[in-house]
Amino acid sequence: MASRVIPVDPFDLVIFGGTGDLARRKILPALYRRFVAGQFGADTRLTGAARGEMETGAYRALVRDALMEFAPEAAADTGTRDAFLDMLAYVALDARGEDGWEALAARMRSGPIRAFYFSVAPGLFGDLAHRLHRHGLTDETARIVVEKPFGHDLDSARDLNRTLARHFDEGRIYRIDHYLGKETVQNLMAIRFGNVLFEPLWNSQYVDHIQITVAESVGVGGRAGYYDHAGAMRDMVQNHLMQLLCLIAMEPPARFAPDAVRDEKLKVIRALDPVARDHAVRGQYEAGHDQPGYRAQVGNPDSRTESFVALKAHVSNWRWAGTPFYLRTGKRLRARTSEIAVVFKDAPHSIFGAEAGRHRNILTIRLQPNEGIELGVTIKEPGPGGMRLIDVPLDMTFAEALGPEEADFPDAYERLIMDVIRGNQTLFMRGDEVEAAWAWTDPIIAGWETEGAAPLAYATGSSGPEDALMLMHRDGRRWREIRP
Ligand code: NAP
Repeated sequence: MASRVIPVDPFDLVIFGGTGDLARRKILPALYRRFVAGQFGADTRLTGAARGEMETGAYRALVRDALMEFAPEAAADTGTRDAFLDMLAYVALDARGEDGWEALAARMRSGPIRAFYFSVAPGLFGDLAHRLHRHGLTDETARIVVEKPFGHDLDSARDLNRTLARHFDEGRIYRIDHYLGKETVQNLMAIRFGNVLFEPLWNSQYVDHIQITVAESVGVGGRAGYYDHAGAMRDMVQNHLMQLLCLIAMEPPARFAPDAVRDEKLKVIRALDPVARDHAVRGQYEAGHDQPGYRAQVGNPDSRTESFVALKAHVSNWRWAGTPFYLRTGKRLRARTSEIAVVFKDAPHSIFGAEAGRHRNILTIRLQPNEGIELGVTIKEPGPGGMRLIDVPLDMTFAEALGPEEADFPDAYERLIMDVIRGNQTLFMRGDEVEAAWAWTDPIIAGWETEGAAPLAYATGSSGPEDALMLMHRDGRRWREIRP
């Protein structure tokens, strides 16, 4: 069975920062794949905009190279690729200057939806919004897409929200968190609210604890300057891990509609207790596996920025009182893996006696690699020799369960950009959500800053600092292994 593709309405899309890393690696390949899938036609206008002087021909060559590298299937059908490139033009402009804006305005048609992707440094968001408005580019269809980071703390996020609100209603602002575009993350909602099986157990009476792990095996790479200023808390916890926590913990919304879902997520963030000092561990990776350590990599020998965070969080409401949420994320860990594990409580009484050992149901939602869902159940070990119990997975790896064609789902950026055109904000963060998330993370960061201690060192290829393991050991629990 082939995937269903519902074409979107005609649109004009401008990518500010159209020559940058994100545009080349993610945004343009995502658009190309949706074009190949037939989601939009050749009557679409795509415009790259940045300061560098360049003819449209040179821009198309730049995009062609990006497609060959990041969407290599573009090499297979040159006709389709050229049809895509024909939709593209380039306009040289400065977000802070006046040149080029008239040329951009001349390229925009009246009628089709207008989308403006702000793939530039956040310091330019306000300038772009202001100039779009001043040059009459914001008709009633206009919407803007803003990339993370959305602010550096609560104050800067508030400022940014206020600045954007001067020119755009909240309903026109799409704050991207690409984790929300992942297939499994959406499936989390389908599993919770589409089945009768899980929801009755989805509370502190039956759930012992929840673990959320987003582990990377790579180091800071090319974005060292940004990362050393941000750290894992701002780069990962405040947005991606927080969003995952919200989807796990939220109450069922009345309907799957943007504000109904986002209202429920906001309530979760607001119900989070402040994190106790000894429930927040931060680390920094050391050299190893022929790779430099964090400080050498960012070129800052005194850096106190964390490349790892582990937290124990509490959602203080009726559903979750007493069930901790353990979150961890870091770079240069043992493997690249992201998962959410819902660890259920022990059966109230074992009819099999103590020798049967301890067995627990664990629902694991794997975000990467091999997106899928696995439920660990306890069964009798086959064969003679009495009642010995073992745990086996009821595994639903999407690629196996659905077949390769159905499981070839769009990348997060593909889905999210099409949602922007469709005008569906369900998978985008609302301004108040972002602010509430900062309000929770700011005091943790401030606590570390006041304390002044350096992050704990951890070995490249490990599971993070020892204290992170202790965070759970103290509670008689264990992190799940980080494995590929
Ligand atoms: P980048 O590679 O540095 O690209 C920046 C782009 O903005 C370039 O096209 C640049 O071209 C343009 N630009 C810079 N100043 C400008 C100005 N005054 N007016 C108009 N255009 C200007 O950055 P990036 O990595 O693509 O990141 C873009 C945004 O996405 C940032 O907010 C970043 O935090 C966010 N983000 C990036 C990633 C990633 O993996 N790269 C991931 C998540 C979020 P000119 O210099 O020619 O103007």
